[in-house]
Amino acid sequence: MKSWVQSANDHLSHFPIQNLPYGVFARVGETPRCGAALGDQIIDLALLEKEGLIDAGNSVPVFNQPALNSFMELGKSAWDSVRVRLQELFKEGGVDALQGNAELTARVLVPMSEAELYLPFKVAEYTDFYAGKQHAMNIGTILRGAENALPPNWLHIPIGYNGRASTVVVSGTDVVRPLGQTKAPTAQVPSFKPCARLDIELEMGAVVGTPSKMGEPITVQQADDMIFGYVLLNDWSARDIQGWEYQPLGPFQAKAFATSISPWVVTKAALEEFRTSTPPREKELLPYLDEPGPMIYDIELQAHMQPKGAATPTLLCHTNYNRMYYSAAQQLTHHAIGGCKMNTGDLLGSGTISGAEKSEFGSLMELTWGGKEPITLEGGEQRTFIEDGDTLSLTGWAQGDGYRVGFGSCVGTVLPAPAFTPALSEKQGA
Ligand code: MN
Repeated sequence: MKSWVQSANDHLSHFPIQNLPYGVFARVGETPRCGAALGDQIIDLALLEKEGLIDAGNSVPVFNQPALNSFMELGKSAWDSVRVRLQELFKEGGVDALQGNAELTARVLVPMSEAELYLPFKVAEYTDFYAGKQHAMNIGTILRGAENALPPNWLHIPIGYNGRASTVVVSGTDVVRPLGQTKAPTAQVPSFKPCARLDIELEMGAVVGTPSKMGEPITVQQADDMIFGYVLLNDWSARDIQGWEYQPLGPFQAKAFATSISPWVVTKAALEEFRTSTPPREKELLPYLDEPGPMIYDIELQAHMQPKGAATPTLLCHTNYNRMYYSAAQQLTHHAIGGCKMNTGDLLGSGTISGAEKSEFGSLMELTWGGKEPITLEGGEQRTFIEDGDTLSLTGWAQGDGYRVGFGSCVGTVLPAPAFTPALSEKQGA
């Protein structure tokens, strides 16, 4: 399938007509609204809806608002009908509703270069999982030694923690280095200072479209049906803060300061042909977690780092989403199985996606083995963890036959920690 929007037919474009991911956009001075990416253009879905050229369901408008949630909660039949209709409108030889109308086409297609992209959906809640076995093994080995690397529950439960929705930000948003409490193993007392071991986690985020009910368990198939699509996700992590605070309840401030996601939600429908199976089970799962079919996806992933002033970014790692031991559908099932209600706009982080080779490790903690083995960037600078001014960028795509179903990028630049002096004098005077 080709599009009459020629830029969508470039075999390296992330946004061919086979993709059509959804996001929220506006030009300067305009009101943010929903759009779909096609080549180097954005399809103005609010305008198409107003003109009567698309209908998500029962003529109730859902796209003229600054979030995808209203569309997401309509469910699979609405998602499928809009996708089919968009492909009819924009494919070569499709329905000729736009090509004959140059004036309307010029208003419907907004050059991506002129638009600002916003957080694509209102994030209801954010949960981060730990479903990459290689990552769990690496981190466990660094922190606790090889014998105790994998927690005893790991092969039975997709473990996770409840994170913060309030600090999920769209790609391009700067990230301020967090302040926090840390304690080196050799120190007698903890101290309060800027994070010195700031890291990325290369993850995918699953976006929940339709809700579940409180007290009602769901099957893995039902969970898969609830998922609207996927984004790239950088789970920024303060390793020194995490190391002091994480036992026994898991990460808290170490992860709460920022989570970046890519601006385009790639739909499950666009990823359908890239479905594949999770790796073989090492321990039999309890039946409620059994997958009825392939539920993970073959998605190439990369992370790059570019220091301020550096001429080129350096590839940190390349890996694949198909490495994950648990799928997002299994994670969502486990999340809801005890009665937890899942909502439209819930975001599930996959956990860091690391492969077996060092070049496939999805965090600096692993790439530098706990900060012991610095990496050298293009241009000669060395890094163990992120320094102020560094820009971190994730990208990914599923490779089709002559086209890519891409995710664009998820970018963030790290700014210095805030100047903040605790009122020591008050304490001393008290
Ligand atoms: Mn994570």
